[in-house]
Amino acid sequence: MTGLDATSQPLALTHQGVDRAAHHRMDEAWLAAAWSHPTTRVFVVSGGQVLVEDTEDGRTELVMTPAFDAPETETHRYFLGIDPEGVRYFALQKDALPGRMDAVARPAGLREVGGLLSPLEAGLMVHAVALENWQRMHRFCSRCGERTVIAAAGHIRRCPACGAEHYPRTDPAVIMAVTDEDDRVLLGRQVHWPEGRFSTLAGFVEPGESIEEAVRREVQEEVGVAVGEVAYVASQPWPFPSSLMLGFNARATSTEITVDGEEIHEARWFSRDELRAAFESGEVLPPSGISIAARLIESWYGKPLPGPGAAAR
Ligand SMILES: [Zn+2]
Repeated sequence: MTGLDATSQPLALTHQGVDRAAHHRMDEAWLAAAWSHPTTRVFVVSGGQVLVEDTEDGRTELVMTPAFDAPETETHRYFLGIDPEGVRYFALQKDALPGRMDAVARPAGLREVGGLLSPLEAGLMVHAVALENWQRMHRFCSRCGERTVIAAAGHIRRCPACGAEHYPRTDPAVIMAVTDEDDRVLLGRQVHWPEGRFSTLAGFVEPGESIEEAVRREVQEEVGVAVGEVAYVASQPWPFPSSLMLGFNARATSTEITVDGEEIHEARWFSRDELRAAFESGEVLPPSGISIAARLIESWYGKPLPGPGAAAR
């Protein structure tokens, strides 16, 4: 019950390929030299968005410039790492994205392009967006209330008053494909989701709780189903604003559903045949393409999920 082997594509947003080279973050001389090096590449991040452009051959790319084209004043530099060719990457946090640099550049967020960019560029964007979210919401010291300043090339905020160092936070969340003894999958619809949108259940890990306990508690709270065995599958950074999604397969030990009505409006057990029919008729809408939820469901289903009208094709 492990692995996401239903398709061969890597899970969106979890890409690798850049060495974060964290040992350079405190080295101002190295950072200054890297910043001005002609092969260095910089992209602007603002409000969770970056500029992308679509290439003539149908790919989507980050708009990146050499660092010497990127003004340093009144901005925040995040050092993101070095690729296998030795190219250094920075993100530049600004209050607004620059005006369109050419006719094809357009602003885009992670939900839109996280699954379209190359693995390397998607990884850079996730890193930059996660740092920016944290920086924006942690401007003041949580110990003494003073305004903090950025250090370590975007990876620390330091308090000049009390000396505290604050690190980017990541909030663990669990997301689970719950199945019963007949191998049906349990999907729910959140109260604010449109009619027909079903996905795996999910929730935040609470203080003093193991992630396995969080899986069992969330399923019990949201739909009243008891869960026994819990098996970790994979994780996905989810910087909306600062989560880490921990994906599980979980086995139900009861099947009667009682939705809480606060988070989950409706929940149902689906066999593979029932889910395929529901997708094909449009009765059920598939989950977001980049989310690990889709991959958990796909892994249980055994092959890529059918879309609306698939039976007619
Ligand atoms: Zn302080």
